[in-house]
Amino acid sequence: MAYERALYLLVENEYEEIRRHNQEDLTARRAAVYQAVPEIEAIDQEIQSVGLSIISLAVSAPADIEQRLLALREHQKALQIRRQSLLIENGFAADELSMRYMCERCQDTGTDLDKPCECYRRRLVMKAFEKSNLSQQLRNQSFKTFDLSLYSQEIDPQYGISPYTAMQNILTICSNFINDFDRTEKNLLFWGQSGLGKTFLSTCIAKELIKKGYSVIYETTYQIVSLLEDYKFKRSDDLAGLKAQTERLYDSDLLILDDLGAEFSTSYTNAALFDILNSRLITNKKTIINTNLGLKDLAERYSERVISRIFGSYQTLQFIGEDLRLKTSVNRYKQEEQ
Ligand SMILES: [Zn+2]
Repeated sequence: MAYERALYLLVENEYEEIRRHNQEDLTARRAAVYQAVPEIEAIDQEIQSVGLSIISLAVSAPADIEQRLLALREHQKALQIRRQSLLIENGFAADELSMRYMCERCQDTGTDLDKPCECYRRRLVMKAFEKSNLSQQLRNQSFKTFDLSLYSQEIDPQYGISPYTAMQNILTICSNFINDFDRTEKNLLFWGQSGLGKTFLSTCIAKELIKKGYSVIYETTYQIVSLLEDYKFKRSDDLAGLKAQTERLYDSDLLILDDLGAEFSTSYTNAALFDILNSRLITNKKTIINTNLGLKDLAERYSERVISRIFGSYQTLQFIGEDLRLKTSVNRYKQEEQ
């Protein structure tokens, strides 16, 4: 799976910027050294001129070339040794006059033995995180930090299942969703009261898919609705940017639509929102929707017809239990009390 072309261009630009910075950094260090120890500048000029002599000798190729090359190289080596000891004597680092790289392995070219360097892959993933609007959350939220033990193992009489078991089932479905992402026809609808980990879990899914190279967009419904309105009423100095942002809602491999039902909706925004969802269904692009509303409330708010058409192809997963944010803060409070 390859990332969008635009991401590669962004990363290429970063490497260009890093190389430019490296060069400027070296130029500044060199100027400081030359000012402090003028002899080093003279040595550098000498080294350069010996280098030129070597080249011209190679071109003219006289009979005694071997001998003369050897002498020049010896001379060059002696100059380098002298230069090195002058640097250290004057309190400079041994590599003060060498290029310093962020990545020694690829010397900031991004390529290591004809393959993308590890640092290049890392940058690419970071860029994809940024583009998803989730870079902040993705730093510390992942399946590894998802704490199942926060969910109660007591059976909830209303559902005949414990929040713990319910969440275990949800985790299995999410992990299948990630593994079968290319093949699945499924979309996911997370519903249940706030504070039960819906956003957290969708972030975890986003992270795994971005790492695999898929494009992911995370937006709250509130943000999407304002974006759609700005676009309709042309409320921006950057209409092209707005258009691109809107298009990504249709095109991204995964759209995570957070907090459906919390937006201030009009018949225009409802229609526009469901146009996005419908069009994603037709083009087989996956969507995850989070909502604090019950399925009945959703149907009331957005009309039964729309809901049944759209959500017919969603797997609905109910989050049950107590508000975890409340629970963790109470636990912290208790720990501090002890
Ligand atoms: Zn590298």
